[in-house]
Amino acid sequence: MGVYAVTGSASGMGRQAAHKLRGAGHTVIGVDLREAEVVADLSTVEGRRTAAEAVLVAAEGRLDGAVLAAGIGPTPGPDTPKRIFEVNYFGVVDLLTAWRSAFAATGNAKVLVISSNSTTTVPMVPRRAVRAVLAGDPDKALRTVKIFTRAAPAMAYAASKIAVTRWVRRHAVTPAWAGAGIRLNALAPGAIMTPLLEKQLATPREAKAIHAFPVPLGGFGDAGQLADWMVFMLSDAADFLCGSVVFVDGGSDAYLRSDDWPVRVPTSGLPRYLYRFVRYRRTRRA
Ligand code: NAD
Repeated sequence: MGVYAVTGSASGMGRQAAHKLRGAGHTVIGVDLREAEVVADLSTVEGRRTAAEAVLVAAEGRLDGAVLAAGIGPTPGPDTPKRIFEVNYFGVVDLLTAWRSAFAATGNAKVLVISSNSTTTVPMVPRRAVRAVLAGDPDKALRTVKIFTRAAPAMAYAASKIAVTRWVRRHAVTPAWAGAGIRLNALAPGAIMTPLLEKQLATPREAKAIHAFPVPLGGFGDAGQLADWMVFMLSDAADFLCGSVVFVDGGSDAYLRSDDWPVRVPTSGLPRYLYRFVRYRRTRRA
């Protein structure tokens, strides 16, 4: 039986994942603002540092895996966009960076980041916002997601999830992660019935937008079923899964972006592709 860290363990999908992992006999160290083994606020640098250290102490320096599910939705609020960047991106990346050696210590750890299908279905997310988040500058990112003078939470949300997913794909394949036997992947849900979505549905404007959004299978996803996907992606079945983004969204991404993926290697991308090919061979030989 393994030891797993689960952020966002007090509600929604994180809560269900923690429950199912415990039910299967694993030890879960939950991290959340309340009702968790580690109570910490992931929207602050200090909160993330405290959470990272407390988990390492509780796990005695060895983690079989983690689910990074703590997140803020795009419901408008005075400081929502800033908190979105802090929790959804830095609340994942800072913890994973601090826990990497604990994952490596077990040799076959599985790590799952909860992304979103807003990564591919929200239009006009500024590239600059994603770049600024990846560069570790949430204040700059905030300035780029403004519509007129106001920061738009939906854009900040999509930018935070694109950035965190890109971080996953960039790091998953490196010697520090794949080379250390750590399987790092992302799950991209669509609209799943959790307190986060309930809050959005309670706002008439957001509810209208959510109900109008194309979902070929119709309705909303079930948090328990998403937790089943999480447990599966932490199991031995995921031994060959690395840097993948699995969409469980009722078909929205496939409907809106049918022909955008898979894509052939574009001619303009050939130099980078060949560079990576050569670099890979060199690292293997070294
Ligand atoms: P939820 O609100 O039910 O649970 C999120 C949890 O994160 C809560 O327990 C909350 O307390 C915790 N959290 C929020 N801010 C925190 C902070 N500063 N420090 C520590 N913990 C904090 O939401 P959910 O729907 O279960 O969302 C789980 C993940 O799935 C999130 O990352 C969310 O962005 C993502 N997601 C949700 C949906 C959806 O429709 N529900 C869709 C796509 C992606």
